[in-house]
Amino acid sequence: MIAEIKIPPILKIGGGAFATVAALIHRLRGKRPLIVTDPFLMKTQLAERLATQIRDAGLSCEIFHETVPDPTTAVVDAGVRRFVEGAHDSLVSLGGGSPIDTAKAIGMLAANGGRIRDYRVPHEIPLAGPPHLAIPTTAGTGSEVTRFTVITDVERGEKLLLAGDTLLPSAAVVDYELTLSMPARLTADTGTDSLTHAIEAFVSRKANPFTDALALSAMKTIWRELPTCFHDPGNVKAREAMMLAATQAGMAFSNASVALVHGMSRPLGAHFHIPHGLSNAMLLPAVTAFSAEASLERYAECARTMGVAQAQESDQAAVDRLTRALYERNAELQVPSPKQFGIVEERYFALISTMAAQALASGSPQNNPRIPTAEEIEFIYRQAWQ
Ligand code: NAD
Repeated sequence: MIAEIKIPPILKIGGGAFATVAALIHRLRGKRPLIVTDPFLMKTQLAERLATQIRDAGLSCEIFHETVPDPTTAVVDAGVRRFVEGAHDSLVSLGGGSPIDTAKAIGMLAANGGRIRDYRVPHEIPLAGPPHLAIPTTAGTGSEVTRFTVITDVERGEKLLLAGDTLLPSAAVVDYELTLSMPARLTADTGTDSLTHAIEAFVSRKANPFTDALALSAMKTIWRELPTCFHDPGNVKAREAMMLAATQAGMAFSNASVALVHGMSRPLGAHFHIPHGLSNAMLLPAVTAFSAEASLERYAECARTMGVAQAQESDQAAVDRLTRALYERNAELQVPSPKQFGIVEERYFALISTMAAQALASGSPQNNPRIPTAEEIEFIYRQAWQ
């Protein structure tokens, strides 16, 4: 197997890297960037600090701060208008996965025209967008290093996955200091998203030795450090390790793909507005239990790497421990079930067959070690309810 690996050409990783943004925009030949962020980061003044840094370097910039969690086609369209009307030549995204994904989609539509749904997987994206520098403030989606964007089509109530090398940011600034303000719930959800990326990249049918190394390193760190970040948010060492691991997990899944958890998680998010990492967490233990028989060795290696099983235990015993540990970790991180999240039972069950069809249409379940039928996906949604 020959693996092709794509990551952004420039990564600045480490505490204080935020201060290098203006110099990086110069390197990318941007003169008039549009900053894409959200109302919270506007309120905290972080977006203004960024704009000041850019203006002090002799560049001009504007801020588009209307992004929403789980970005929508409507917000992307508004962003494209702002980008074109302001004659911008580059993008700087600041925030969690939502602003970064929004900026990717703005750049993509500015270059290619048309509508987001025209480019959903498996459609190709012909033209590269303008230079895009991504600055994550969560640890995290890994979107700063991935060739994906996920946009909710408001008319159809569906989360659309777009994939292509042209969506890769031109540069990423990965500065853990920006994550210190994350509250416990956001820390847990975004951290479990990263853990899911690492595990799914490792068991994916498209895994390769390059992504394996990143995925194993990431899952080991995330498993160890996430509870510390959750219980002790000011722990700088743990935050730093989590940030690096989230980016590594992003590189791993961008080049090996995600699988069934993500395929099933997107419809849950689209229909019930569950934060992305939280819907992953709701599904990860049940999907692991379902999938493990098809890749016992790989799941056992996850268990040993994460330290939940001993080297001398059989693969089956290690996998049993892994599934149990994932349920226990959810309890520790106070992950609710869909029922506890407050979803109306009738609506949940009425949508199960639609969600299963949407999960399969996304293509992600086909990367799973055990490729599910629609009925099996429906069964897992039912299992996850309580
Ligand atoms: P988010 O960007 O939706 O942000 C959630 C909330 O956290 C927002 O209110 C935001 O203001 C706040 N926030 C962000 N940083 C903060 C900080 N440092 N301190 C306090 N609050 C902060 O959250 P997310 O989980 O990072 O992103 C989720 C989105 O990313 C989903 O739309 C998901 O589909 C997408 N995603 C994309 C990829 C990809 O490869 N493109 C991968 C995984 C997920």
